[in-house]
Amino acid sequence: MNNYKLLINGHWTDGSSDVREQVIDPANESVIGEFLHASAEDIDAAVASAKEGLEEWKAVPQWKRGEILKRSADLLRARKSDIAAILTQEQGKPLAESEGEIERAADFLEWGGEEARRIAGRLIQGRTPGNRIEIRKMPVGVVAAFSPWNFPVVLTAKKLAGLLGAGCSCVLKPAEETPGSSIALVQALVDAGVPGKAINLLLGKPGDISSRLIEHPAVRKITFTGSSPVGKLLASKSGEYMKPVTMELGGHSPVIVAQDSDVESVARMLVAKKFFNAGQVCVSPTRYFVHESVYERFVATFTAAAAELNVGDGRQAGTQMGPLANIRRLDAMQALVDDACHRGAKVEVGGKRLGDKGFFFAPTVLTNVHPDSELMKTEIFGPVVPITPYRTDEEVIALSNSVDYGLAAYVFTHDPTRQQFFKDNIYAGTIGVNDVPAHFAEVPLGGWGDSGYGVEGGIEALDAYIKTQYVSQC
Ligand code: NAD
Repeated sequence: MNNYKLLINGHWTDGSSDVREQVIDPANESVIGEFLHASAEDIDAAVASAKEGLEEWKAVPQWKRGEILKRSADLLRARKSDIAAILTQEQGKPLAESEGEIERAADFLEWGGEEARRIAGRLIQGRTPGNRIEIRKMPVGVVAAFSPWNFPVVLTAKKLAGLLGAGCSCVLKPAEETPGSSIALVQALVDAGVPGKAINLLLGKPGDISSRLIEHPAVRKITFTGSSPVGKLLASKSGEYMKPVTMELGGHSPVIVAQDSDVESVARMLVAKKFFNAGQVCVSPTRYFVHESVYERFVATFTAAAAELNVGDGRQAGTQMGPLANIRRLDAMQALVDDACHRGAKVEVGGKRLGDKGFFFAPTVLTNVHPDSELMKTEIFGPVVPITPYRTDEEVIALSNSVDYGLAAYVFTHDPTRQQFFKDNIYAGTIGVNDVPAHFAEVPLGGWGDSGYGVEGGIEALDAYIKTQYVSQC
């Protein structure tokens, strides 16, 4: 039984409230550990520590900061199998997916370390003799960072790589469902040489922690990955205090399969991409629009491949899809499927929970889905696929852009004119053309519209944590 700790002032410590929370293995519903919630005093102590940690960390020369971040990437890689076991136990994903996530997290830390070395201001000659103008790039300060349970290692690593690379300190609140793997990531950073006070980690009631952190005068920036409703809540509260935010929020990504695509191979490839992490992926391909001339063939191949997926405990060899991460997702999937069926949808495969132990939901394909169905408007975040036929390129663009999200979109066509038309007209921060790309460290990824603002990764990775200062000296 794990006893998860908070990191405050460089020490791993129990939360000082009297509220205890259990962590559940989603594959069998057993209790794998517990922790005590952070109290208001713990939150304030974490901010005070981050304030001191900021002074210590920003004084470390950026070349050395880069070295430390790169060392943490090496440590993460060396600990890959141990951390993957923790991640699979608490989140449910197959072990191979956990290992892949840890490798990607290490890449982000390494990339953040490399970019840390390239922060540079500039000198400008003033308009009067002797006037020297200095443009300085400074860390924004203490950051409040909130990361979710679907990718608790890599999504946390993206934030830490950016903010630590820029010389900031933080109070991190990882998801309560998956504390063990986020703690292991933080431990690798501390072991690599990040001062303990520069990273503080809290667990507890998300709303209580975020409110107190956003209000705290020492906190200068908020970064959040999670649902759009919670993102809007945090962004509006941050606005009251004029604090900048980075928001990586939900998506409802359209998939367009045109008449000239390789229908069967595209369908099989999309099954692998869609059911990755049991569909709990912000950029998951979720709303399927298939040209009417190839619709039947696509549905038949996709449904057959989905039905063959091996769903089970992520620790077992051969498992292709694990359980959902928590009971809320199971209930949400059933509610979305039931609502679509009440409006006339046909279940081609799946449509219900598998077994009665563990949060398993069958890979599900729905056709004849009414556009007013809840799942055509709300982020699905699970293994449910609605497939709809379309007639013209103009019609499918309107369907694709009919939600407020703008995270990702995927188009399958070999016609260069059609590819260009889709690229020019789809509202999304990421577009895959004959591809469903993963987010790698070298790529800036961010959502438009309700999917958030700001990017993580790429040569822009540190920008969100740097402020610009103009000094004029005579
Ligand atoms: P949720 O919206 O309650 O929580 C999502 C995440 O936000 C969790 O990590 C939670 O700890 C955190 N959170 C919730 N309220 C918060 C608050 N007031 N302050 C700070 N953090 C807060 O929903 P859930 O049931 O945990 O997850 C379901 C939904 O979350 C999905 O439908 C999906 O849209 C979204 N989600 C998105 C991502 C992503 O990568 N964009 C990741 C996880 C969950």
